[in-house]
Amino acid sequence: MKLTWETFTIRAKHPFKISRSVKQNVERVWVRVTADGLEGWGEAAPSRYYGETAATVVSALEQMQPVIEGAGDPDRLETLERDLEAAIRHNGSARAAVSAALHDLVGKNAGLPLWKLWGLDPAEAPLSSFTIGLDEPDVVRQKVVEAAEYPILKVKLGTDRDEEILSTICDAASPDTVIRVDANAAWTAREAIDRIAMLADYGVEFVEQPLQPVDREGYRFLHGRSALPIIADESCIDTASIQGLVGLVDGINIKLSKCGGPREALRMIHAARACGLSVMMGCMLESSLGISPAAHLASLLDYADLDGAALLAEDPFAGPGLVGAAIEVGDAPGLGVKKA
Ligand SMILES: [Mg+2]
Repeated sequence: MKLTWETFTIRAKHPFKISRSVKQNVERVWVRVTADGLEGWGEAAPSRYYGETAATVVSALEQMQPVIEGAGDPDRLETLERDLEAAIRHNGSARAAVSAALHDLVGKNAGLPLWKLWGLDPAEAPLSSFTIGLDEPDVVRQKVVEAAEYPILKVKLGTDRDEEILSTICDAASPDTVIRVDANAAWTAREAIDRIAMLADYGVEFVEQPLQPVDREGYRFLHGRSALPIIADESCIDTASIQGLVGLVDGINIKLSKCGGPREALRMIHAARACGLSVMMGCMLESSLGISPAAHLASLLDYADLDGAALLAEDPFAGPGLVGAAIEVGDAPGLGVKKA
């Protein structure tokens, strides 16, 4: 097997603003694993928040290269991923890209789409939410109007104008739109009690990551006092994070670029269920290539937020992902992704 890569840039339609950052052009890494004339593809969507950039992805890939190139064939995925993890820990998005590429390759070799290889039924996938980033009220209003085809909106909050933003969105959206909120760790536990009560008054369904990941006491305080269910995102990296979240939150938000790929994501889904937590899958700003492994797993989710490619001005890849709010995967073998 051979491992190669190239970096590319994607551009969000609108600057993507959350409580701690704003992004529009982001660098991604297109990873390819080649064996016996077949190519498996994956995308790394590094985030500085989790300590990664395109440059760290490339250096992680250099460390994974000898493992891939020394392995006989891709079929023994479990062993291969264990060997990769021994070669390099953390670096979730770099490992996710390689894991996606290996699963793509194995699926193509078997002539089966990933969902079929894993015995899943894509018809059971929930609808995806569509994210409304932070902005001035008139821009927020315009974004909500542009998002009319999405029945579920995920609203970024965590500012001193949270109620104004939420009220603008509820006012601009159709009355049956489901609203979810992501505070991206912006509140303290005391603030969160009042803010979440306000969100509940607006009919919000749940709130994602109200507090800093380190604020375990805060989560303990909120649990049972919060007017809405709480989903851990920044607090939940991989399977090892899950046990420590029991009794603090109601569910987890899995992202391939945090956890290291579709195989670890599948493990997390089962671990979370065993711990009585609900399961959401989210994404970064990423192309259809980056979204596709999550789309294949979507039938196992309670909540999906797989709008990364839908937020782009141009998608360099075409494949599984959103058609409106529906998650479509198709029958093409592997991940089923092509160049756009
Ligand atoms: Mg989040």
